[in-house]
Amino acid sequence: MRGTRSLRRQLSLLLGGLALAILGLVGGYLGAIAADELYTAQQAAVRATAQSAAELLATQLRDREREIELLSGAPHLVEGPLDAERVRAALERRAALHDEFAWMGVADPAGKVLQATGGMLTGRSVAQRLWFIAARERIYVGDVHDAKPLAALLPAQPNDEPTRFIDFAAPIRDAEGRLAGVVGAHAHWRWITGIVDGVTRRQQPGGVVDALIIDREGRVLYPEALKVAQAAGEPVLPKAPLNGRFEGSLRFGDGKDYLVSEAPLLARTNAELGWRIVARQPMELALRPVHELRRELVLLGIVAAAALTLAALLLARRVSKPVEQLVRIAERVEAERRIPDFPAEPATRELARLSDAMRSMAHSLLETEQALQRTNATLEIQVQQRTAELQATNAALAHLATRDPLTGLHNRRSLDARLAEALALDRRYGAANGRVHGLLLIDVDHFKRVNDVHGHQAGDAVLRQLAQLLLATLRVSDVAARFGGEEFAVLLPELGGPLDAVLTAEKIRSAVEAATFPEVGRLSVSIGISLVSPEDADVSPLIARADAALYEAKRGGRNAVVLKP
Ligand code: GH3
Ligand code: MG
Ligand code: MG
Repeated sequence: MRGTRSLRRQLSLLLGGLALAILGLVGGYLGAIAADELYTAQQAAVRATAQSAAELLATQLRDREREIELLSGAPHLVEGPLDAERVRAALERRAALHDEFAWMGVADPAGKVLQATGGMLTGRSVAQRLWFIAARERIYVGDVHDAKPLAALLPAQPNDEPTRFIDFAAPIRDAEGRLAGVVGAHAHWRWITGIVDGVTRRQQPGGVVDALIIDREGRVLYPEALKVAQAAGEPVLPKAPLNGRFEGSLRFGDGKDYLVSEAPLLARTNAELGWRIVARQPMELALRPVHELRRELVLLGIVAAAALTLAALLLARRVSKPVEQLVRIAERVEAERRIPDFPAEPATRELARLSDAMRSMAHSLLETEQALQRTNATLEIQVQQRTAELQATNAALAHLATRDPLTGLHNRRSLDARLAEALALDRRYGAANGRVHGLLLIDVDHFKRVNDVHGHQAGDAVLRQLAQLLLATLRVSDVAARFGGEEFAVLLPELGGPLDAVLTAEKIRSAVEAATFPEVGRLSVSIGISLVSPEDADVSPLIARADAALYEAKRGGRNAVVLKP
């Protein structure tokens, strides 16, 4: 009993465990799905940043490229002369429309600057500049570069960055298609970076995504800090596999993992600039919502499991309490042997049935027990009665077996048994203590006459009266028997000597002599006495001696006592 676990504990464990398992499975499954979705959403946000920045930048670059192309075909420039004031005015107007242009100017086919905004670099040669050389042939959009001569003429950058430009240039051709000169423009690099920054700020207000501009050779153009670090030979970009279209997780030179999305910059109609935008978000930040969700799910799971376990406990208590109540009732029935109060309204139908069944079982048990007890008591009394009856019958039978029916004295058989006992006792002890048994044989004198004169029935009455007389005269320990016919025998125990026997015989003889017998009158008896002798082999010699003594008494004249020891 003690080893087995209680229903309450088993139910609580089972339900609590089940709840935990289900919560764990569902929570884990939902958590995994949600985490996946969150991760995908972060990935999409990073991709959107890269693509927006790339598209916006491409559009802006195309616009400026178009601007220069249009300017190169403007009538003032095509018709010339290129050093005319109106050319400079046209340049100034354009520059005023776009404040990203730090400088706009035209040079003659030899590379000498003829007109420029603000008169900057006028008269100087740009023959060695990449943009000038390239734009003699075609429209040119050039990689970012430092421009020391121009930078010296411009106000310093706010954050001490070196002044950098991106160049736009186009050939000017006259009516016959001959090269008349080159028009060029330097746009501030910070205009480009401003566009990228604007996009990342718009896409990710928290600033958790940053965007890199990388050129065809894999050099970082922006942001400045990375560019400087790369120039100093530090590892900045991942070793692989940035390829212009990569998307996924990568470890950068700073040792941190990032969620990365690349977008190529399809900027130009004529030639490929070869830049790309790499948007990245530290993995730690990308996964933060996932981790938070997981933590919340775990917390929620713990709270729900605790609540469910508590509910399971309460439920188990509700189930087991009435059962325990019934157990106590059963124990009380057993201990007190009566029907105690049953719970008024059991919680469930099954319990109500169990309660009813137990009540009726207890009733019938107790009734059966009481009936058994009653039967037992009756049986006991009956057995006692029967035993008593049996004992009485046995006693009566024993009496009948040992008594003479006419006189009620011991019969001959009983006397023989007593005589044998007496002989055995005397043989063992009699010699030692000097006390022996004696035997009297008593015969009624002239009894034939009684019968003859008064009838047999009167003779019987005489015999009965004689028996009573014997009993009245003798001691309880003496054994009086009817020896046969009208002869009686008396066994006298523990006689001090022959005289005791003679005195007893004499008492009997004189009592008979003194008695009166109704109808018959006076009578007498003759008595022969013998004593047990050590030489007696059995009772025969003892009886023979007594008989001889009796014969002597008769011969001597009757109504006498004779001893033959
Ligand atoms: P005695 O003095 O020599 O003894 O003379 P007696 O007449 O008594 O002679 P005996 O002893 O030989 O006679 C016995 C008689 O006792 C014989 C019988 O008729 C009678 N008797 C024996 N048994 C019974 C008995 O049960 N009832 C009656 N009424 N008489 C009996
Ligand atoms: Mg006789
Ligand atoms: Mg006689």
